[in-house]
Amino acid sequence: MSEIARDRLPVVVIGAGPVGLAAAAHLLERGLEPLVLEAGGTAGAAVASWGHVRLFSPWRYDVDAAARRLLEPTGWTLPDPDALPTGRELVEDYLAPLAATEAISSRLRTGTRVLAVARDGADKTRSLGRERRAYRVRTVDAAGRVTDVLARSVIDASGTFSTSNPLGVSGLPAAGEADAAPFVTGPLPDVLGADRDRFAGRHTLVVGMGHSAANTLLSLVELSEATPGTTITWAIRGGSARRLFGGGTDDELPARGLLGTRLRGAVDAGRLRLLARVSIEQLVPGPESVQVLGTAKDEPLALDVHAVVNATGFRPDLDVLREVRLDLDPVVEAPSALAPLIDPNQHSCGTVPPHGEAVLSHPDDGFYLAGMKSYGRAPTFLLATGYEQVRSVAAALAGDRAAADVVELNLPATGVCSSDLALEADGDSAAGSCCGAAPAEPQLVTLGVGAPAGVGFATGVAHGRSGDGEG
Ligand SMILES: Cc1cc2nc3c(=O)[nH]c(=O)nc-3n(C[C@H](O)[C@H](O)[C@H](O)COP(=O)(O)OP(=O)(O)OC[C@H]3O[C@@H](n4cnc5c(N)ncnc54)[C@H](O)[C@@H]3O)c2cc1C
Repeated sequence: MSEIARDRLPVVVIGAGPVGLAAAAHLLERGLEPLVLEAGGTAGAAVASWGHVRLFSPWRYDVDAAARRLLEPTGWTLPDPDALPTGRELVEDYLAPLAATEAISSRLRTGTRVLAVARDGADKTRSLGRERRAYRVRTVDAAGRVTDVLARSVIDASGTFSTSNPLGVSGLPAAGEADAAPFVTGPLPDVLGADRDRFAGRHTLVVGMGHSAANTLLSLVELSEATPGTTITWAIRGGSARRLFGGGTDDELPARGLLGTRLRGAVDAGRLRLLARVSIEQLVPGPESVQVLGTAKDEPLALDVHAVVNATGFRPDLDVLREVRLDLDPVVEAPSALAPLIDPNQHSCGTVPPHGEAVLSHPDDGFYLAGMKSYGRAPTFLLATGYEQVRSVAAALAGDRAAADVVELNLPATGVCSSDLALEADGDSAAGSCCGAAPAEPQLVTLGVGAPAGVGFATGVAHGRSGDGEG
């Protein structure tokens, strides 16, 4: 395939989440043709799955600038900029209208899962003329039909929400974990809403020690007050939940303090049972319940539960990228140049410098990870950062190197972390929270968004966010 032909192909964007849709908006502004491939039935499918959870960033920082420019001519207006939307509101009041614009809807294929990405006509080992080759993106639709799409470039904004870390130790699934899948949920089931029946009057094991685990535990406690027989066990890999309990009423962030205080109160009052230094080795599913076998504080552990909530964090799905020449950091699985900027062992949100295309590139030109997935296993991602990434990538793809290199997201030196999601990693997990291991106590992040917004902001009040270093 000639170079000219490659340039005439669309830029495939994998995932119609907030960052994938923003990428499409920026590409359109640059005169490039996006094709957005979304596995879910609608745009924002991943966000919709945690729709009952409230974001910690207010509306003004949840909307991409190019997306806004697409939306406003349709009569859309930004919701109260200081209000904190739920995931559902983010979908209904922003992502769905954005996906419905003529410009995007005509370039969006929902129900289309990307199975693999490769250079057209060249496997990973073939170098000759590689840079002239298009990308071949293999997809499967809801009916199981497999179709290949050719692309000039690929922006993988498929997030990490569907690839939780396993329950087993050492980063590997416990024996029987796959067979027990019907009993295992993601980190943020809608305990008090749509998923209520699954937990009411039943015994649930919550695994993890991050913000998502805390939110789910408190919802289960609330459920147990209304429904007798609701039993809760909480397993953490570390020796103590002290850091999750936080500074109580002295905490500089009221929401975080409240969360920790409530959780500690629930544990102290015996509303839930906390097991420390837990290692899950085997899951044995039965007709109604699943047996969880392993150790707790080196003693044998055997629990019989109706549901297991896996709140141990996320990892990127790299299997689909097996044929792409990637340059990934061996620790966090983010682009190598980005990793040191976001590594939770070294950095908190507040010390993550702004970044654009220059740190997102890979040996295979024109391929980018963006959004949540670009952070690999690091839990420090913010939407504002993702919007800046795709603005810069679109500029680079359009050949506007200067615009690509002028990074517009401005993180001031003083702010640290974002909110009560800032919970530290459990035990010796490297995947720290938003504030990671850098500061002993997480603090408020203050972000400044440069042009066009040009204002600083603090993300102060928070509710759930998973993947925040939950071990
Ligand atoms: C509970 C929670 C609360 C959060 N709160 C905030 C907040 O307040 N502020 C903030 O800045 N950030 C927040 N985040 C972090 C982050 O901004 C969100 O996770 C955000 O949704 C990431 O956007 P994304 O577009 O990168 O990925 P996603 O929203 O995960 O979107 C990825 C899309 O790709 C699709 N997809 C996946 N695999 C494939 C495939 N193989 N083929 C095709 N499509 C695929 C998915 O269905 C999905 O629609 C929060 C995260 C969580 C989980």
